[in-house]
Amino acid sequence: MDIHEYQAKEILANFGVDVPSGALAYSPEQAAYRARELGGDKWIVKAQVHAGGRGKAGGVKLCGTEHEVHEACENMFGRKLVTHQTGPEGKGIYRVYVEAAVPIDREIYLGFVLDRSSQRVMIVASSEGGMEIEEISAQRPDSIVRSTVEPAVGLQEFQAREIAFKLGLDPALTQHMVRTLKACYRAFREFDATMVEINPLVVTGDNRILALDAKMSFDDNALFRHPQIAELRDKSQEDPRESRAADRGLSYVGLDGNIGCIVNGAGLAMATMDTIKLAGGEPANFLDIGGGASPERVAKAFRLVLSDSNVQAILVNIFAGINRCDWVAEGVVQALRELQVDVPVVVRLAGTNVEEGQKILAKSGLPIIRATTLMEAAERAVGAWRQDLTQGTKMRAV
Ligand code: ADP
Ligand code: MG
Repeated sequence: MDIHEYQAKEILANFGVDVPSGALAYSPEQAAYRARELGGDKWIVKAQVHAGGRGKAGGVKLCGTEHEVHEACENMFGRKLVTHQTGPEGKGIYRVYVEAAVPIDREIYLGFVLDRSSQRVMIVASSEGGMEIEEISAQRPDSIVRSTVEPAVGLQEFQAREIAFKLGLDPALTQHMVRTLKACYRAFREFDATMVEINPLVVTGDNRILALDAKMSFDDNALFRHPQIAELRDKSQEDPRESRAADRGLSYVGLDGNIGCIVNGAGLAMATMDTIKLAGGEPANFLDIGGGASPERVAKAFRLVLSDSNVQAILVNIFAGINRCDWVAEGVVQALRELQVDVPVVVRLAGTNVEEGQKILAKSGLPIIRATTLMEAAERAVGAWRQDLTQGTKMRAV
């Protein structure tokens, strides 16, 4: 789960990261009022969307008067901000953050990520802040400093000092940098984050270290331990297909292809997507309906997959261990009867009660395309989509 910049800044500030003073607003009037409250004579108005690259896309504006703050906000509220991270549909702007503008001497990149190969939290820093990390690694790979944290002892002082030295910071700032790094690490650990990114972390004209941007992502599976983080979820920033799935307890990730997948088990779902690609198609989604799926749950899964207008064929792939093929088959039949399913549906069942399952499909008289192996199922789904067998005439009814 991602959160907004202002929320990440608040969390990091509580752990000891210094941030400029700022305030949140839900309207241009409120933003102008916030600027007056904050005082000073220069403000940065920042669109709060779950994506980076806002600066280049017009989502970060420097303002010199309250009137300019108001004007900048009028051009933001209710609009979709399209950055290189949002995809072409963009993300809606419903909140802005008004922040004191800070004189910048140096911009640094700082990131904390989970490094899967070392199974450690890895700190990634670069003296080339302001650019995205992808650009830095393409253009200035030699500027990147990496350091992994030993979980048994946490981030050590010497390690943090070493990072500060490698970034070429003024020695007078070393202690401040050590405090900042330790604070980020503690926030990361405390809340089961998967990413903390400060880009840019800046050295100001008056020699302070401030986080001007902040991004945090959290492990969804650990959110139950952190209700105060879970409640920061902002559905307006999520893919509506994924929000709907999460609300229904289904694990769904929307993709760009057109073959909808309904599968039990994350591993099998991945294998199904791979096999669809191998057969020459593109999956429209990852969907794990989980173990013990009832007919109602299967019908819900159908509804979800069909709500994506790109879906032109559906592949149901169930290997029933805890699940029962007859329940899944009932779910498929129920869904096809209740919903307007106008795309070909391929069903492959294996495992517990498979014979009963097949019987239910056969008796239904519905134009369901059956397959025995996964490869066969994928080929049929891709074939059905290619030949546009939506009329059912050429379909092999069971
Ligand atoms: P994004 O990464 O989404 O483009 P940032 O928060 O990093 O958004 O802002 C873009 C740029 O705007 C920063 O790299 C920085 O140069 C400038 N900026 C952001 N906040 C401030 C601030 N409070 N004072 C001065 N400059 C800022
Ligand atoms: Mg940034």
